[in-house]
This record gives sequence, C-alpha cells and structure tokens, in this order.
Amino acid sequence: MSTDTSFFAQVNRQFDLAAPHTGLPAGLLEQIKACNAVYHFAFPLRRDDGTIEVIHAWRAEHSQHKNPTKGGIRYSMMVNEDEVMALAALMTYKCAVVDVPFGGAKGGIKIDRSKYSAGELERITRRYTYELWQKNFIGPGIDVPAPDYGTGEQEMSWIVDTYRSLSPTIDAEACVTGKPIHMGGIRGRAEATGRGVYFGIREACDNPDDMRKLGLSVGLAGKRVVVQGLGKVGYWAARYLAEGGAVITGLAEYEGAIHNPDGLDLEAVVRHRKETGSILHFPGATNLPDSAAGLELECDILVPAALEQVITETNAARIRAKIIGEGANGPITPEGHAIIKDRGALIIPDTYLNAGGVTVSYFEWLKNLSHVRFGRMDRRFEEATTRRIADAIQRVSGGNLTDTQYGDLVRGADERALVDSGLEDTMITAYREIVDVRDRHGIDMRTAAFVSAITKVGRIYQGAGIFP
Ligand code: GLU
Repeated sequence: MSTDTSFFAQVNRQFDLAAPHTGLPAGLLEQIKACNAVYHFAFPLRRDDGTIEVIHAWRAEHSQHKNPTKGGIRYSMMVNEDEVMALAALMTYKCAVVDVPFGGAKGGIKIDRSKYSAGELERITRRYTYELWQKNFIGPGIDVPAPDYGTGEQEMSWIVDTYRSLSPTIDAEACVTGKPIHMGGIRGRAEATGRGVYFGIREACDNPDDMRKLGLSVGLAGKRVVVQGLGKVGYWAARYLAEGGAVITGLAEYEGAIHNPDGLDLEAVVRHRKETGSILHFPGATNLPDSAAGLELECDILVPAALEQVITETNAARIRAKIIGEGANGPITPEGHAIIKDRGALIIPDTYLNAGGVTVSYFEWLKNLSHVRFGRMDRRFEEATTRRIADAIQRVSGGNLTDTQYGDLVRGADERALVDSGLEDTMITAYREIVDVRDRHGIDMRTAAFVSAITKVGRIYQGAGIFP
C-alpha cells in the first residue's frame, strides 16, 4: 500500500477501495472524489502591541452535489491546504451517510489560539468572515461553517454578526451553525457530536452477531472504554457512554494518559485537570507517559476523539481494543486500518460515528430558515391531547398514577427532546444501512460507509444529468 502521508490522498485511498462496489462509471467517480474549490487567503492582523502579523486561512468546498456546502472551521497550527481538502471530503461523505442534505466543506486558520487575546481572535474571525463573504464562500444557501477543533460558540457569534452586517437578509442567521441559543443556536448542538458517538457505539454493541465475533457480551453495560481527547467530542462521548453503563477506564490528553481498571470518575478528572492543569496524578489512577500510550491500553472500546492520523502503521499493532469508535475525523490511516482489521477488531468509522454534530447543525439551519423553535407550535397541543388520555387512564385505573407518572405521561416534547430524538433516529438508521451494505458486499464498516455515501452522491449527479 502507498505510504503517501497526504491526508487527502489517504481519504481518497479509502474512496478507491469502496468505488468498485458502487458500479458507478470511472469519470463520475473522479468527479465525486475531486475537491471542487479551495480558497487560500492571507490577511494582516494588527496585534495588541501594534505589530502586524500575516494570518493564513483556507476554505475548501469539496462537493456541490447538494447546497449549501457544510463543515467546520478549525484554528490550529496544523491547518494547511491538504488538511482542509481532506476534511471537506470527509464532510461530503459524512453528510451523505446520515442523509443530511449538504455538500462537504471545511475551513481553517493557521494559528495557535492560546497565543492571541480575545480581541485579536475576534478581529481574526471577523476578517476571515469578511474575506469568505467577499468571495461568495459563505451564505445560508452557499456554504455554512460550524465549530471544529479550536473554535466554538464565541467564534460562531462573531461570524453571524459579521455576515449579518454585510448581508442583512431575513435568512442571514442560517449562514453558520453552532451558535449560542440567543444568536439563533439550537439546544443540544454543543453535545451533539459526542451524543452521536454514544448512539453509534451503543448500536454497535447491540448487534448480537458482531459482539459474538468479538467475544463480547451484547450491550454497552460494563464495557471498558478509553477515550483520547476531553474536548467537545471526547468529553460528551465519555459522559454519555458512562451514563449508558460503560466504564471509563482510561483517558488521554496532550499531557499524557491515566488508567484505572476499576473506572475513572469523569467529572472528578475534569475538576482535577482544571485545578492542576493536567489529568496526570489523578488519585487512584496510573500515569502513562504520553497521549499515544493511552491508545494502547487494554480495553473493549477505544474512542480516539482528538486529532487525525493518531493510529498509523507504527502503532496499530499495539492497539488492543476490540471496538474502535472514531470520534475524531480521520484518526486512523489506511495502513493502520488494515492492521487493526486483520486482527478482527470492529472499526466504527468517522464518516458515520461523528456525524452527530453536522446532523444537529442541519436541525439548527432548518430552525433558522423556518424562524421558529422546534416544538413551539405543537408542544402544548400534544400535552393537551396526552392529558385527555392520561385523565381517562386515571378514571379507569381509579387514580393509581402518581404525580410523577402523570407528569411524565403528559409532557410534550420541547426543542431539546426533539433534537435528541432526531439525532438518535439518524444514528440508528444510518448504522443499520451501513451494516446492510457491509454484509451484502462482504466489506468492512469504513468501506461500507464510503459505498453508501458515494452511491447516494452519484445518484444525485446522475439524476442531474451531471452537467446541466
Ligand atoms: N466540525 C464538525 C464536523 O467535523 C461539524 C460540522 C458542521 O456542523 O457543519 O463534523
């Protein structure tokens, strides 16, 4: 196998493994694979001390088979053209896998955000937005950014505010997702990716055939989990997995990893890190020298939820987990994947497993375009209907329902509950679809996710006659 370390080349090698199973013509496959547009730009930042610094930034739009294109913006020193193209491509496949009607995009600014003041970060973000706007690389129907590594609600607020001042249209709020609630955000977006990771892993553990092959019991309860990365994805994934009955036995961050076979109290570790600046030396846990060592811990489920390319041909043979759930984008290289697959482990691929973020972004975008909160029109109506049913049950059962039971029964779904239900349904449906493709073609989950995505994108191109 090629040892090209280009991230985009690696994504395309995964694409090439899947392509023959789709039956699509070679030329069309080339079009689906190509990154349609990449914009690299530089702009000056006046720093707080008066000096001027040149900032390099990118936005890649991989596929316009559906509009808008969609994908996060990351702030990291690792950002470059190859990385944004690879991540934009992954967004195309990810959206297709979970039937979210967007093309893929990704953006990035090459900065170490810890070296800038809040004022400087605001100036960088607003200027980045302006540059995208000027070149038609942002807009509710064009390209809709979101948070990614190193960005969050604050940056999304600056983006929507800048965009709205440039294009004060009725739908301007839908130009970006991952916003705070008061700026048009949606309840449940911040935890969505981690929540989706949980739903996906739970679904995998509920598959009796797969668990038998792995020598594991059915269900999440009692499974030992190691998570790399305690950020937006890893923290929530760990939390929901623990709430679902799994035991967090290892955690890894930049500074190292910790292990306790009896289980780690996630909230206590987070508190410890806040107080000491590190997860290391957590009471009752063993320290491991670095984050990579955490990946090699003995466990049932490993969730790499930090950065890409952390499992390669050099360490794959030492990964002992039976299930690997890719919380991050592209954490396993194709060479690493082959080694782990040969050992018989189950890899739940990123193109499916971390799609919860963009799924709830889709709900946020819909909310912005419809200008109404989910549940606003029907919640009380639903409550009134169930109240009539509950009252009838009370009468028949002689008033046996407790106040709590009665309250639970009549509660109408609010925005958070509806988002959660939409996310759960999306993750379950897509998992079953991938398993079906996998079993029909006799391929692994990653290839199956690609086959499913490429087939869906291809159908749209073919329906459109490819060149209108
Ligand atoms: N950055 C997230 C991802 O990689 C979310 C993208 C989005 O919501 O548009 O999936």
